[in-house]
Amino acid sequence: MFEYAPAPESRAAAGEIASSNGHFIGGEFVGSSGKEALKTVDPSTEEVLAEFAQGTEEDVERAVKAARDAFGPWSALPGAERGKYLFRIARIIQERSRELAVLESIDNGKPIRETRDVDLPLVAAHFFYYAGWADKLEFASYGPDPKPVGVAAQVIPWNFPLLMLAWKIAPALATGNTVVLKPAETTPLTALRFAEICRQAGLPKGVVNIVTGDGRTGAALTAHPGVDKVAFTGSTEVGRAIARTLAGTRTRLSLELGGKAANIVFDDAPVDQAVEGIVDGIFFNQGHVCCAGSRLLVQESVHDEVMESLKRRMATLRVGDPLDKNTDVGAINSAAQLARIRELADAGEAEGAERWSPACELPSSGYWFAPTVFTNVSATHRVAREEIFGPVLSVLTFRTPEEAVAKANNTPYGLSAGIWTEKGSRILWMASKLRAGVVWSNTFNKFDPTSPFGGYKESGYGREGGRHGLEAYLDV
Ligand code: NAD
Repeated sequence: MFEYAPAPESRAAAGEIASSNGHFIGGEFVGSSGKEALKTVDPSTEEVLAEFAQGTEEDVERAVKAARDAFGPWSALPGAERGKYLFRIARIIQERSRELAVLESIDNGKPIRETRDVDLPLVAAHFFYYAGWADKLEFASYGPDPKPVGVAAQVIPWNFPLLMLAWKIAPALATGNTVVLKPAETTPLTALRFAEICRQAGLPKGVVNIVTGDGRTGAALTAHPGVDKVAFTGSTEVGRAIARTLAGTRTRLSLELGGKAANIVFDDAPVDQAVEGIVDGIFFNQGHVCCAGSRLLVQESVHDEVMESLKRRMATLRVGDPLDKNTDVGAINSAAQLARIRELADAGEAEGAERWSPACELPSSGYWFAPTVFTNVSATHRVAREEIFGPVLSVLTFRTPEEAVAKANNTPYGLSAGIWTEKGSRILWMASKLRAGVVWSNTFNKFDPTSPFGGYKESGYGREGGRHGLEAYLDV
């Protein structure tokens, strides 16, 4: 078989990574009031990259106060002025995109091909898009003079660190809010680099504050009585806990949680294209994607043909060094996530599903999991019900469109779905029946800042992206 020579991206492009990091509060990099420090590692080597502060309640208090102090002047700026800052941030992100892409790959484990070609272009696009809204809010259909909510507390996960930051910060700032954001504890580095970009853009002090730390910091931030709005992306379990804490308060809440999406392939679908969509749906970003197409529903008559093609395609996936430009599947983000994926995959086998992975050599250090597919899966198996959040696909079959809809909707989640068929009328019929926030047809995992994104049921509530994404940050 054709072999690839290594094509490593330069690690030096990430710039200097400070060995110890504090928070970004009131426009300054400051130390924590506590002594506890956490470490972030390169998941592909387990090498410690940096230490960062475990945010305390006092740190959260300082950050919320800085955001509150900045809110009056920031929200009073004309929209066009706020837009200028957002345009500036977007342009700096583009200018520094190689640096940010390399840093994201090192801290997260995702392939440079994805950070460079997907994450970073989308991050910049989000800032450009919401910069454009800043002076047009009266035309967004939220009344003639929509007002910001106030101080937003934003907590994000580790799977798309900078992109989730952009989804949260860009609309909040465009609408005149100020923010305190907490990145995930395994991926704090690009958020801290973004703080530098805020300074470079001359953003007024306190408009963006970044407090690092684990779930304890997140809990202190989301429960703080001084915040007006909480935006959370992460697990359903933590989302529930936050909803309980905020019940009965005046704090507004939007939740983007987990998923177990169905990717549905009909017998008239072009098989090669569908297989590309299946691979993209579950192996993109190591399957650490809330809207991943983790349940493949194949029409029974083409099951064998699709599986044969899929296995052939999976055998060509290159797993390894995230900084190699040829890599398709990078490292699992953390030891804890790897343990969870292993536990669920083992449960799949124990419950009687058939497990298959292509022959692939995994590096000896770091956190790795080979692309895996389960066939003979029944709807009651854990691999068909629980979110694995890893490169593991479960395959089920169906005979009729009605059965496909019933099986696709047989989940507590409702974030996304995919349909592969040549028939336009069937796509529209299916899309109207599927209980999912996003339905892709003959494609998968397509993102655009102009499209709203969000879930039904246990996948959360509220929408991010597009005009709809403004609503979460407007007092309407
Ligand atoms: P997680 O819920 O454990 O952590 C997410 C964030 O919440 C982290 O920053 C964490 O420090 C913080 N946190 C933890 N406990 C908290 C608490 N009690 N109060 C406040 N904050 C707390 O999830 P994870 O393991 O980091 O991320 C994976 C999950 O996120 C998956 O279930 C995935 O589906 C979901 N996710 C959803 C979306 C979406 O848009 N719907 C996007 C990405 C990830």
